[in-house]
Amino acid sequence: MAQIIDGKDLASRKRTAIAEEVKAFSARYGRVPGLAVVLVGEDPASGIYVKNKKLACEKAGITSLSWQLSADTSQAELLGLIDELNANPGVDGILVQLPLPGGLNEDEVLLRIDPAKDVDGFHPFNMGMLLTGTPTLVPCTPRGIMEMLRDSGVELKGKDAVVVGRSNIVGKPIALLLMMEHATITVCHSRTKNLAEKISRADIVVAAIGKPEMVRGSWIKEGAVVIDVGVNRTEAGLKGDVEFEEASKRASLITPVPGGVGPMTITMLLENTLIAARARMS
Ligand code: NDP
Repeated sequence: MAQIIDGKDLASRKRTAIAEEVKAFSARYGRVPGLAVVLVGEDPASGIYVKNKKLACEKAGITSLSWQLSADTSQAELLGLIDELNANPGVDGILVQLPLPGGLNEDEVLLRIDPAKDVDGFHPFNMGMLLTGTPTLVPCTPRGIMEMLRDSGVELKGKDAVVVGRSNIVGKPIALLLMMEHATITVCHSRTKNLAEKISRADIVVAAIGKPEMVRGSWIKEGAVVIDVGVNRTEAGLKGDVEFEEASKRASLITPVPGGVGPMTITMLLENTLIAARARMS
């Protein structure tokens, strides 16, 4: 039976450490790190994410400033706000909650954020730095996964890892981070042939698909490490992308949903804000 990688517990330990570091930062520089969160429109899930991020900031002693804009905000208005936040010396990190309402150009908005304040790590500059093996601000979910693997003592060197999903937010950056730790990576997606067979050979499986329990437990190799990024709301409650019960019988380590990767994502946002604040003071 697999051991659970408890993301909630690790997140709580990390947040305590981050709060201490925020105190030290404030004592040294006479100011508190600041995160600006921009929410456009009324999407309820985005509203909950933003609220959770604000709360986590407050608990860590990070100032969180929020902008709630109406769904009919124009591209020019949004870009104007980003310019203001880029120039605001009290703002160390800027987060624009995605997805943006239809009609707004996400790529242009993300490109406008000063890369030094890009705490989501989605700006092409930061993505490029990751690609070249010199990471700066790294996307929060993949960073959180790497912290979980490190904390659980998982050896990555020479291991075969299968990443299912190739998004800019999760799939691509986690593949690069695992590669940097000398794992051998296979990235799978909706056109991949023989997915089950590929997964069944993997020492490490990262599922970031967005389809409830799509990765069947029987596909998991005996002793594999399984990281389930998926968050799927179903009639039976919140489900991951992996069939947890069956996969737990074969894996050596597995993340639950909820309580796995999710809590680490917000924690890494706090850490990225602190990293950005320190870099701006140096
Ligand atoms: P995307 O929708 O951007 O990407 C999903 C990926 O899954 C795509 O690359 C897609 O392939 C692939 N895919 C879809 N269907 C299949 C299939 N049948 N077989 C193999 N691959 C398939 O999602 P995200 O990366 O943004 O998120 C993935 C999941 O992780 C979601 O459930 C999301 O809610 C969750 N998530 C959780 C976070 C957390 O903090 N816990 C943070 C971010 C995301 P293709 O490219 O070919 O379309």
